[in-house]
Amino acid sequence: MTRILLLGGTTEANDLAKRLSAVGADAIYSYAGRTQSPVAQPLPTRVGGFGGVPGLVRYLQTEQVTHIVDATHPFATGMSENAAAAAAQACVSLIRLERLAWAPQTGDSWTMLGAVDDIPAALPNLPARVFLAIGKQQLHLFAVKPQHHYLLRLVDQPDAPLPLPNTSVLVARGPFTAEGDIALLREHRITHIVAKNAGGLAARAKLDAARALGLPVIMAERPTLPKGPVADSVAQVMAWLGHTALRGV
Ligand code: NAP
Repeated sequence: MTRILLLGGTTEANDLAKRLSAVGADAIYSYAGRTQSPVAQPLPTRVGGFGGVPGLVRYLQTEQVTHIVDATHPFATGMSENAAAAAAQACVSLIRLERLAWAPQTGDSWTMLGAVDDIPAALPNLPARVFLAIGKQQLHLFAVKPQHHYLLRLVDQPDAPLPLPNTSVLVARGPFTAEGDIALLREHRITHIVAKNAGGLAARAKLDAARALGLPVIMAERPTLPKGPVADSVAQVMAWLGHTALRGV
């Protein structure tokens, strides 16, 4: 018997859920529970943390999971580290679905930094208008540069006061288009873009828009994730599962 735990929260995880459902795989989709209205999945879905490595090991054993696909965001290091440790302890096969990182093209003006923590110091000291496209969890880091106006694009309306004094909040969910993002950057008279190197198609519109408008991008490189099998597409994960979990489905 094979049972798959799909750690989700990304566009690629959602695509994989459709494929797994289409082949009738026995799979569970897992959300961290960060957004108010997560995308409905065609698989049985659970929401919330497992309780660290011990909690995940218990979950794997109780649910008789045989395969984990870690399709979390490339910056979701905690979950990926826990998945690697728990899979080893519970003798469960694990693969990470990791979309390719973005690379600069001709006409791009990117400054690459090691982590989001390094970005505030790289912003100018004179007031600027910054599209801060990093989600909501690390906004507090930018409180050291309160002189800037920050445009935030978030999945949900903030449910607590923002740690930045001068913001415009746009509630929207990707995928976004270059045309739409060009219009957005013009409307808000953006001078700098801050991003994480998430990769993938859903969020790259802002980078295409920055190139079109000649705007500088300050980008955090990806964190290092645990070693192990990595697929860069849904098709590769399906092939990996085909050799192990989905035989005969
Ligand atoms: P994280 O730092 O790696 O995870 C923190 C904790 O949240 C984990 O230890 C785990 O709690 C729980 N968790 C994370 N993903 C989970 C999942 N898919 N199912 C069940 N529990 C999960 O993650 P994060 O950066 O806060 O991101 C949270 C989720 O949002 C991820 O699933 C990720 O795919 C998605 N996301 C993140 C970003 C980003 O930039 N970080 C962007 C888009 C989407 P326990 O230790 O209790 O098990």
